[in-house]
Amino acid sequence: MRHLTSLGVSLLCGVVLCLNLGCPASSTTTEAPPAIDDDHGHDHGDHAHSAPTSLPEAIETIDHLADEIQESFAADDPDGAHGPLHDIGSVLEGAGLLVAKSDLTDEQKKAASEALKKLMDAYGKVDAKMHGDEGVDYADVSKEITTALEGLQTATGIQHDHDEDHAHEEAK
Ligand SMILES: [Zn+2]
Repeated sequence: MRHLTSLGVSLLCGVVLCLNLGCPASSTTTEAPPAIDDDHGHDHGDHAHSAPTSLPEAIETIDHLADEIQESFAADDPDGAHGPLHDIGSVLEGAGLLVAKSDLTDEQKKAASEALKKLMDAYGKVDAKMHGDEGVDYADVSKEITTALEGLQTATGIQHDHDEDHAHEEAK
């Protein structure tokens, strides 16, 4: 992630500076200082939601983040959408694993994975554009996203918004 690189570099410089100043008198042939993992750029801050451990929880989190993203873009606040946009990527990934481990039928798993993949794809492209790479605007994929969210809930039989009752959704 480009926006974190400069932070990583300045932290690295700070450490190197300290090392140079730190031990002028000690033996000169000790082993090299531990390597600093500075190009691990994926950590977008410490506010991360703890990773969902069950599929219903994952779907609820996805639903929640999707709402936040949608509302921020609707309010013309892309910066506000950017955090949840990063969060939803990892939750979608985790949900994929939870689907694979779940008791759903193969058919349900397949449909759920497809929905997750579509979401990942759509949100990924929106995020790419926010980083100045080739991508799409949220408005261009918002319909796809809604459809995929519904598809995910239908495939898993987990509805977050509505009552727990798994009866058919008959219009009333
Ligand atoms: Zn981003």
